[in-house]
Amino acid sequence: MGGGLAGLTAAIHLSREGKRVLLIEKKAYPRHKVCGEYLSNEVLPYLNSLDIDIQKDLKPVKIHELLYSTQKAKSIETSLSLGGMGLSRYALDDFLFKKAEEYGAETLINSVENINFEKDKFNLKLSSGKELSAPIVLGAFGKRSNIDKSLEREFIQEKSSWLAIKSHYEDVEFPENLVALHNFEGGYCGLSKTETGVVNACYMVSYKSFKKYRNTEEFKEKVLFQNAYLKGFFKRAKPLFEKDLSIAQISFQEKSLINNHILMLGDAAGLIHPLCGNGMAMAIHSGKIASEAVLNNFQGNNLDRKNLENQYRQNWSTYFENRLKTGRILQRILINPILASTSQQLVKKFPYLLEKIISKTHGQPIV
Ligand SMILES: Cc1cc2nc3c(=O)[nH]c(=O)nc-3n(C[C@H](O)[C@H](O)[C@H](O)COP(=O)(O)OP(=O)(O)OC[C@H]3O[C@@H](n4cnc5c(N)ncnc54)[C@H](O)[C@@H]3O)c2cc1C
Repeated sequence: MGGGLAGLTAAIHLSREGKRVLLIEKKAYPRHKVCGEYLSNEVLPYLNSLDIDIQKDLKPVKIHELLYSTQKAKSIETSLSLGGMGLSRYALDDFLFKKAEEYGAETLINSVENINFEKDKFNLKLSSGKELSAPIVLGAFGKRSNIDKSLEREFIQEKSSWLAIKSHYEDVEFPENLVALHNFEGGYCGLSKTETGVVNACYMVSYKSFKKYRNTEEFKEKVLFQNAYLKGFFKRAKPLFEKDLSIAQISFQEKSLINNHILMLGDAAGLIHPLCGNGMAMAIHSGKIASEAVLNNFQGNNLDRKNLENQYRQNWSTYFENRLKTGRILQRILINPILASTSQQLVKKFPYLLEKIISKTHGQPIV
């Protein structure tokens, strides 16, 4: 369920291994998604093992530098030891969707409305009215979905205080090898180039900060422009979308990893703070470990569900639990103005702290 990076990866991995896979995605490709579009290089060896060469086929920009600036535009720059790629979700998701089909996955553009587990199998109801059943279901429906409501997942009961806005811009001055994170009151904005040479600008802000203003333009002028870097960028860059894209109710709360026997992948299992720039890599990685657990425990008609769930749980916590914890701590620091300002000064004074944070929130190359 869900054809973002986690669902697409699992569909590719499993269909390559001869499993019969149906990928159900709510909305057609290609389309833009609210995302910083910085993808850590840690995914490259794994994607290559699936015969996927995004560097050759999609030509992302190579990013090796990080610039972080405080609200007062005091900045530090550091090299990213592993580095990453600037790549639009418009191109990436569509490309992986076509790969999934090429490797034999069946696909359906429709929304799953309901799911239940009975007599050791899942029954799904789609918005078209179609009903399906399957022995295994992977929940890769992202950070917030109607499925979370129908499963009555705990995190969905609470309101979340974050929203995010993004657009692409034309800006010849912005360096190609850089990802920039600029702080402003109540949030931060990430800037980096994508494969088409445009700059993706994506900012996250708390409702509390945002609701004081009438619209995004006023918010930009009154708040984002307090940071001279952001003022410079938004004054000179030319917006390429007719309208900014936005999403609301972004939640960083802990989520159940396995819900009613559905293995949750990617953001459906837990969203790492976007400031860490690692959610896309984690989604891809979770697709890998879920697929491996399925392959190890579902052979022929024999399915060892207990072992499948145990293996997935164990591997998920090995790879992601600490990263998510660090992300949550970072988020708490950033929403507290006093802690945010102290930490900015600390990072300025001790730049190696930034490198430490990066290594704590990123993984090793996935093999
Ligand atoms: C503001 C912001 C900036 C970010 N920046 C970065 C960054 O620079 N680098 C990075 O690595 N990560 C970043 N992330 C995180 C990254 O976007 C996510 O971690 C990643 O997209 C998760 O992939 P996913 O497959 O779990 O979910 P998604 O990519 O969200 O895919 C979920 C899919 O499920 C579909 N779906 C939902 N419900 C249903 C249903 N009922 N039936 C069928 N389909 C359904 C949706 O349409 C969607 O296509 C950012 C996140 C945010 C919010």
